[in-house]
Amino acid sequence: MPVEEVYVGIGSNVGDSIVIVSEAINHLCQLPKTELIRQSSPYCSEAVSDIPQGDYVNAMVLLKTSLEPLELLLELQSIEEAFYRQRDPALKWAPRTLDLDIILFGSRSYDDSHLTIPHPELQNRLFVLQPMYEISGDFYITGLGSLQYLIDNAPQIEIDRI
Ligand code: AMP
Repeated sequence: MPVEEVYVGIGSNVGDSIVIVSEAINHLCQLPKTELIRQSSPYCSEAVSDIPQGDYVNAMVLLKTSLEPLELLLELQSIEEAFYRQRDPALKWAPRTLDLDIILFGSRSYDDSHLTIPHPELQNRLFVLQPMYEISGDFYITGLGSLQYLIDNAPQIEIDRI
């Protein structure tokens, strides 16, 4: 099975988000067939939403994995679910405490009803681009352009490294 370098974006705006993001990274380290290569600092960013809500804590990790994209997605969803359950198992539709997104999966593209890679909102999300730049510097993303170009052209939001 090929080993791929994968960027996973992490976000939380419910609960103790700094702790949740840090614990989520610990969970990612324990995934089968997967190792953590680099992790960004946590960032605080304003929520981009019509619904009023608190600021987000975001971070980015670079993993090496021989899981297939859909296998990784299922693993990420079960980590999200674990955090959700720990917080309040009674509230089925409560805001999620943790969001994990596959941003890039090597140079692969993928598009079906469950998974789109590269993540379709990548170029619109400074809270994804900025931590990526921190851990990998500038690099070219096929079909989109350089990370620096994407950062310069993304909708500007308030985002601070914590
Ligand atoms: P969200 O509300 O952002 O957590 O979206 C979750 C849904 O997005 C899930 O049902 C996934 O199947 C789908 N999805 C599509 N592409 C991706 C991706 N690159 N990473 C994570 N989830 C994705």
